[in-house]
Amino acid sequence: MRAIDVHLHVGFRGRKVEAEEETAQLYRRNSVIALPIAWDEETRTGNPPISNDYVAQVVRTYNDVFPTGWACVDPWKGKAALQEIERAVRELKLIGVKFQAAAQQFFANDRRFYPIWDLCQSLGCPVLFHTGTTAYGAGVPGGGGIKLKFTRPIPYLDDVAADFPRLTIVAAHPSWPWQEETLAMAVHKANVFLELSGWSPRYFPDSLKREVRSRLQDKVMFGSDHPFIPLERWLRDFEQEGYPEEVVEKVLYKNALRILNLDIPSEGKP
Ligand SMILES: [Zn+2]
Repeated sequence: MRAIDVHLHVGFRGRKVEAEEETAQLYRRNSVIALPIAWDEETRTGNPPISNDYVAQVVRTYNDVFPTGWACVDPWKGKAALQEIERAVRELKLIGVKFQAAAQQFFANDRRFYPIWDLCQSLGCPVLFHTGTTAYGAGVPGGGGIKLKFTRPIPYLDDVAADFPRLTIVAAHPSWPWQEETLAMAVHKANVFLELSGWSPRYFPDSLKREVRSRLQDKVMFGSDHPFIPLERWLRDFEQEGYPEEVVEKVLYKNALRILNLDIPSEGKP
C-alpha cells in the first residue's frame, strides 16, 4: 500500500455494486486503499441518496482496497439522522460522516444541528465537511440553485470546531475562495484537519502548498475525489510538485492512519 485516498465517490448515476469492481481494480493496481462516500441531500433536492447500506456493501465486497467508508446523513432528517449516524457507525462500521452543506443547504453552526455534532463527538466519529466552491451545479444558470455561502469555513465550521473540541473535523478540498480561513482553522484548532481532494495538486492555492510543506504537514491527508479527479491524475500531479519525501509519506498515508485511527488489513500495511 502506498497511499490512502480518504475521498472516493461510488454509486453515482445508479451504479450497481458490481460496477464498483472496476474501481476496486484501479485502486489495487495503484496499491492505494480508499474510503468510499455515501450521499444524502434528499430533503432539499429530492435526489435519491447513495445510501450508507450501499457504501457498507461496497466495503464488505472489496474490503482489501476499501477497508471502511464515510456515511452521509441529511441533517434535516432530525431524529432519523441521529439514529442513522449511530447505526452507520456501530452496525455498518463506517468510519465517520460526510456533509455537503451546499447540496444539503444548511449552516453547520445552526444550533438545530448541534445534537448531530454532539453525537459524533461522543461516538468518536470524525466528520468530513465539503469546503469551498463545488463542481455541483458549476456552469449552469444559477449554479443549479447551489449557494456557495454554506461552504464557507469561518464562521460556520469554525464555530462547530470551537464548541466541540473533541470532535475531529476534516475540511475537504482546497477551500477556494476561502483557503486562508481553512488554513487558519487548522493552525488554530487541534481538532481541525484538511484533505486535498477535488483539485489537481498543480492548481492548489499557493498558501495551501506552502502550509503542506511546513506547519500543516501533520494535518493534511490525501483524497482524490475520484472519479471527478481521477486517482492516477491526482497522484501524478502531486508527485510533480516535488514535496520532500517525508511530507509525501505523511500526506499520502501516515496522517490518515493517525488522524482517522484507521485499522487496515495487515497485508496492506505500508
Ligand atoms: Zn467529493
